[in-house]
Amino acid sequence: MKDSSQIELLGLDRHELASLVGSVGERAYRAGQIAEAVYRQRVESVAEISTLSQQLRAKLAEKGVLIGVPRIEQRFVSQDGTVRYLIGFADGQSVETVWMPEGDGGEAGDGSEAGEQAERFAALNPSGAEAQLENGESIAALKRCATQKQEQGQQSATPDEPRRTQEDQSRTPDQQSRTPEEQSRTQDQQQGRTQIRQRNRPSQGQNQGRSTICISSQVGCAVDCQFCLTALLGVKRNLTAGEIVGQVCAVLKDQGVSPPEDRINLVFMGMGEPFLNYDNFVKAARLLVEEVGIAERRMTVSTAGIVPRIQDFGGEKIRPKLAISLNASNDALRTRLMPLNKKWNLEMLMAAAKAYPLRTREWITFEYVLLGGVNDAPENAREVVELLRGIKCKVNLIALNPGPGIEFTTPEVERVAAFQTILRDAGIPAFVRRPRGRDIYAACGQLKRTVEIATAPAL
Ligand code: SF4
Repeated sequence: MKDSSQIELLGLDRHELASLVGSVGERAYRAGQIAEAVYRQRVESVAEISTLSQQLRAKLAEKGVLIGVPRIEQRFVSQDGTVRYLIGFADGQSVETVWMPEGDGGEAGDGSEAGEQAERFAALNPSGAEAQLENGESIAALKRCATQKQEQGQQSATPDEPRRTQEDQSRTPDQQSRTPEEQSRTQDQQQGRTQIRQRNRPSQGQNQGRSTICISSQVGCAVDCQFCLTALLGVKRNLTAGEIVGQVCAVLKDQGVSPPEDRINLVFMGMGEPFLNYDNFVKAARLLVEEVGIAERRMTVSTAGIVPRIQDFGGEKIRPKLAISLNASNDALRTRLMPLNKKWNLEMLMAAAKAYPLRTREWITFEYVLLGGVNDAPENAREVVELLRGIKCKVNLIALNPGPGIEFTTPEVERVAAFQTILRDAGIPAFVRRPRGRDIYAACGQLKRTVEIATAPAL
């Protein structure tokens, strides 16, 4: 547990760092050195900030200054290369952060890619063409692949069992927070990280630059979407800006990648509703752009539809791209699936989307989780077409990722394809998102099971 007198550097901006160094009698330029060490070199202790004099490091330590890097408590590695991290904070709370080495289907992290996809779609206008996933794969091909995997799975003893890395099995939480005296352990840990990196990194010329990190903004979530496992947790607390940025720093370090040299996409689509933790989210986004070096156009924030904050967000100087979680085609259905629709209904939500100030080559992404027999009928698709009329947007379709405690089922691929075709025929770029990390409960809407797995005995 963090002592209340301690000061964490992660989460402080240049101005705040300058005041801190000023309080120990140092000049403001030291703030830049500290920011470089914390956000770019991702050091884990003040003692490691080699650009500061020994005397200044001692003064900062005396003042109770520490970096505040969150601890990676566990990793689960999917068969598709996705890694789900359980990341713990000083007060014992934890969230999940997901690393997708081949991106999340190009869904939202990279503005230009999304724009290019939509432009290609508009140019080709593939009316009547075979339904496509975002990566261009056909649904029929996916189905063939699923059948093959099923056959292979029957030959394997535990085809879907989440795998923990060798490194995890030997790690304890204490090993995560290294002091200088523990440096001797670093080499072994680095070797483990290299193995993970080699396993996950796309091979040369393949999906280069599409790695995506999905980060959490709250511990749990209060929004109560009926198809989401995170909702079952309720909300425990907001994350600080430092804890949001800290997730990214921890994963970048673990994966051995570093923006801007490595192209990293970020999606604020993990646990929590970012717009219910607005100030911390906005500050974190600013730090990620200005200090960590991730381009603004490579970030997307998803909201369930907190209308006043959508309006505020349009006025932010630094803002990731906007995604809106739609999930229903009319108010009755949306209120059933997302109770917050009672407060901000579709008319209010669509008005906010229409008024949203889009930049050049920017689109709003609407996410639509398809629930078998609930919101996936052709009539629903036609209602969505009407709702989105006049909005520069694309739609990401997500077939439900199932989980215990969720009453809905995953729709048939044919229904997903039919839904997509109706949208496309109406001129709306629509893509089916390929699930990532379903076998380790890392896919969209599945970030809750993790807690149960993580507190269970070693797998
Ligand atoms: S889908 Fe998002 S907003 Fe809805 S309950 Fe889950 S985490 Fe919260």
